[in-house]
Amino acid sequence: MSSEPTTGGHPPLVVVSGPSGVGKSTVVAEVLRRCPHVWLSVSATTRAPRAGETEGVEYFFTTPEEFAALVDGDGLLEWAEFAGNRYGTPRSAVEKRRAAGQPVLLEIEVQGARQVRKAVPDATLIFLAPPSEAVLRARLAGRGTEDPEAIRARLAAAEEELAAAGEFDYVLVNADVGECAAALVECAGLGGPSSG
Ligand code: 5GP
Repeated sequence: MSSEPTTGGHPPLVVVSGPSGVGKSTVVAEVLRRCPHVWLSVSATTRAPRAGETEGVEYFFTTPEEFAALVDGDGLLEWAEFAGNRYGTPRSAVEKRRAAGQPVLLEIEVQGARQVRKAVPDATLIFLAPPSEAVLRARLAGRGTEDPEAIRARLAAAEEELAAAGEFDYVLVNADVGECAAALVECAGLGGPSSG
C-alpha cells in the first residue's frame, strides 16, 4: 500500500483495440514516440514468433501449458482466444506501473477490451476503425505475415470486431497515422506536461 499522491487519481489505463490489420501497432508506436512516459504492456501469447519478433519485446511467447498456468494462477488481467491462439495481459506488471504513477497502454483485441472494462472501470477504451473494409482486407492480405488460412480467420474475426465499435469510449478512424495518434493522445489524456 502506498500513500504517495498521484496526479488526479490513477494514471490512465488505455486500451487500444480494433480489427487485425487496422494498424494498431503503427499507431501505438507513434503514440509512444510522442509520449515516452507511457508504458506499453507486453502480452503473453501461444502464437509462434514471426520473423523479427523477439521474446519479451513484442510478446512473451509461451507454450499452451505455460499459458494455462498463467490463467490458473490468476496471472492475467484479461485473456482471449483469437484466430486459433491465446493472448493475455500479465496482471502484475500493469498493476506495478500504475501504482508507480505511470500511464499504461494495452493493445489487445475486443474480447480482452470487454474484460478490462469490467476489471478496471476507469479504463479508457479506444477502438481503431479502418477507413473502409476494403482497406482492411488489403492491409491484412498485403502485409505478408500470415498464411491464407490465418488471413481468413482474421477477416472473420474482423467482422465481429467492427460490430463491437459502439461499446468503446472513442472510435478513431485510422486514415492517417499521425492524425490518429494525435487524436488518441488527446482523448486518452496521455499528453503529459512534457509532450508539448
Ligand atoms: P497478432 O497475432 O497480430 O500479434 O495479434 C492478434 C490480435 O491479438 C491483435 O488484435 C492483438 O491486438 C491482440 N492481442 C495482443 N495481445 C493481446 C492480449 O494480451 N490480450 C488480448 N485479448 N488480445 C491481444
